[in-house]
Amino acid sequence: MRRKKPSDDAPVGFSAHLEYLFHITCKECGFYWTYAAMQKGFDIQKRAYNCPNCGHNGKIELEDEVQP
Ligand SMILES: [Zn+2]
Repeated sequence: MRRKKPSDDAPVGFSAHLEYLFHITCKECGFYWTYAAMQKGFDIQKRAYNCPNCGHNGKIELEDEVQP
């Protein structure tokens, strides 16, 4: 017999929205930061960005998803 988890009977108490979070590393200084988008098809490679640490300007190359 399956034991009931305490959360099975819990009422809905929260709402949430899915966010896509890009992890960006500067090729110039190695600084790491994140960029959040709410649209599934958001194209991070479309425009140039500036590194918040060193100011380096350039486009972003999107790599493959990290596998767990
Ligand atoms: Zn940088």
